[in-house]
Amino acid sequence: MRRWNGWGDDATHYPLPKAAEQYLESLLGVGNPRPDADIRDVAASVPKSRLWTHASITTDVETRIRHARGQSLPDWVSLRSGQINAFPDGVSYPMSQEEIRNLFTFAVETEVNLIPYGGGTSVVGHINPLLEGKPVLTLDMSRMNNLIEFDSTSQLATFEAGVSGPDLEALLNKRNFTLGHFPQSFEYSTLGGWIVTRSSGQQSYYYGRIEDLFAGGVMETPQGPMELLPHPASAAGPDLRHLILGSEGRLGVITHAIVRCRSLPEEERFYGVFFKEWEAGLEAVREVAQKGVPVSMMRLSDPLETQTTLMLSGRERVVELADLGMKSFGYGSERSLLILGISGDRRAVSSARSRAMAIFRSHGSLPAIAAIGEMWQKSRFYSAYLRNTLWKQGYAVDTLETAVSWSSIPDLTKGIIGAMQQSINQLGERILVFSHLSHHYLDGASIYVTYLFRRGNVPEETLHRWRTLKEAASQVILEHGATISHQHGIGLDHASYLKNEKGKIGMDLLQVTCKQLDPNGIMNPGKLLG
Ligand SMILES: Cc1cc2nc3c(=O)[nH]c(=O)nc-3n(C[C@H](O)[C@H](O)[C@H](O)COP(=O)(O)OP(=O)(O)OC[C@H]3O[C@@H](n4cnc5c(N)ncnc54)[C@H](O)[C@@H]3O)c2cc1C
Repeated sequence: MRRWNGWGDDATHYPLPKAAEQYLESLLGVGNPRPDADIRDVAASVPKSRLWTHASITTDVETRIRHARGQSLPDWVSLRSGQINAFPDGVSYPMSQEEIRNLFTFAVETEVNLIPYGGGTSVVGHINPLLEGKPVLTLDMSRMNNLIEFDSTSQLATFEAGVSGPDLEALLNKRNFTLGHFPQSFEYSTLGGWIVTRSSGQQSYYYGRIEDLFAGGVMETPQGPMELLPHPASAAGPDLRHLILGSEGRLGVITHAIVRCRSLPEEERFYGVFFKEWEAGLEAVREVAQKGVPVSMMRLSDPLETQTTLMLSGRERVVELADLGMKSFGYGSERSLLILGISGDRRAVSSARSRAMAIFRSHGSLPAIAAIGEMWQKSRFYSAYLRNTLWKQGYAVDTLETAVSWSSIPDLTKGIIGAMQQSINQLGERILVFSHLSHHYLDGASIYVTYLFRRGNVPEETLHRWRTLKEAASQVILEHGATISHQHGIGLDHASYLKNEKGKIGMDLLQVTCKQLDPNGIMNPGKLLG
C-alpha cells in the first residue's frame, strides 16, 4: 500500500549502508530522529466535512488525509508531525467528462473550491488545500486512466489524463510504442499532472519535454470544454496548448490528452563516464548538446554528488577498487561522474556513442563504464525511497532546480551552493549540498540541487531551516535571471517568485485568463498566481 506520510509503497525500503551512515554523520553531525505521528491521531484532528452530501463524493477521513498533502518538504514536515491543519472536505473519483462537469456545477452552486489531483507527487504544494477559505473538494483523476484511441500511423495516443506513468507505458509498450516520459516520480505521477506542471522526464533530451509530447486534448473548464486539435504544427495564432501547459489546475481539468509516441527503441544503453573535474564535463556536455549528438540523457554530477552517489551505492569494495584505478590516472577528489543514456536502433546507438565518446575523450574523460550506467538504470526510480530512510535517521532531504544559459552555469551553481551553505551555517547547522546538470538545450541546461540537513527538535525548526535554505537559493536564482523552476512548477512554494519572471503584464495576462475561464474562482486557489 502507498505510504500516507512518505514516498512510495510501504513494502519497499532503501536501507542505508553502514559506511554511508558514517559518511553523513561526518558531514552533518548525528541525525536527529523524532517519532512520526500516527495516522489514527491525525484522523482524530480532521474537522467535520463542510460539503453538502453528494453521491459521487466521499468524506471518509483517511481518504481526506491521503489527499491533503503532496511530497514537498513542508508537506513531509506536516505529514510526519501530524500537523496537517488543512484537509479537503471530500474527495471525488470522476469517471467521465460529464461527471466533472456536474461537479463544477455543484462547486459553483454550493461555493466550493476544486483541486484536481493526479498522483499527488507535487513537490511545491500544488494540491494542498489552503488553511482558510471555502470548503474544498479534491478531484482524484485516477479512475480516468484508459487509452481511448491509438493512431499508429500518426503515432498519436489519446489517453484519459489520470493515467499513471506505469499504466501509460504498459498500454503503449503492448503496441510496441513508448512515450519516453520518465520523471523520477514515474511510479505515481500522471499524464494530466505532467502536462499542467510542465514536467521533464529523465530522457527528455531524446524523447522531449512534456510540452513536446502533448499534442492536444480536452480541458474541462468552468466555462465549458476547451478542445485542442493535434496539429503537427500550426501558424494559426498563439499556441493555446501553452495555456494548458503549466496551468496547475487553475484553469480546469484535463480530461483527455493526445500525446506523440515513438516506436520502442531497439536498444537503450546507459554508461558511467568519469571526468577529471566538473568543468571539463561541463564543456563536454555542452559540445554534445550544441553539436546535436542524439544521446538520450547526460546527467553530470559535481564532485560531491559523485562521491555521495558512490557512498550510497552500498558497493564499498567496488568503489574502493575503482578509486584506486582512477587515482593511477590522476583522478582525485574532483572527479565528476556523467551518466550517459542512448536510445534508438542499434546502428544509431553505436554511432551516437562513438560521437559522444570522441567528444568526451577530447575533454579528458575515461572510457565509458557500462556497469555504472546499468546500476543507475536499476535504481532510477528506487532512489526516491532513500528519502524515507534518511528522514528516519534524522535528516531532511530536498531538491531544487532551475535552468539558465550555458555561460551562467558555473557562477549560478557556485552561487546557489555557497548561499545555502552560508545561510544554514548562520543557524549553527551544516548542509550536504550537491548538484547535477540533467537537461541540456542548445543555449543552456538545468541545474538540479540536492541538499540534506539535520532535522530540528520540533517541526517548526526543521521548517525554518528549510525556508532559510530555500530563500537563499531562490534569491541567487533570481539575481542570475534564471528560472525559478525548470520542471517542478510553481504551486505554493514558488508563487511569490513568479512575478520576477513574468513581469506585471505577464501576471495580469495570467490573472485575466483565470478570471475568463473560471469567473467564480473555484479552481485550485492560491497556486501558481498566489
Ligand atoms: C520523488 C520525486 C521525483 C520527482 N521527479 C520529477 C522529475 O524527474 N521530473 C519532473 O518534472 N517532476 C518530478 N517530480 C515532481 C512531480 O512528480 C511532477 O510535478 C508531476 O508532474 C506531478 O504529477 P502528478 O500526477 O503527481 O500531479 P499532482 O501532484 O497530483 O498535481 C500537480 C498539479 O497538477 C494538477 N493536476 C493534476 N492532474 C490534473 C488534471 N488532469 N487536470 C488539471 N490539473 C491537474 C493539480 O491540481 C496540481 O496543481 C518528482 C516528485 C517526486 C516526489
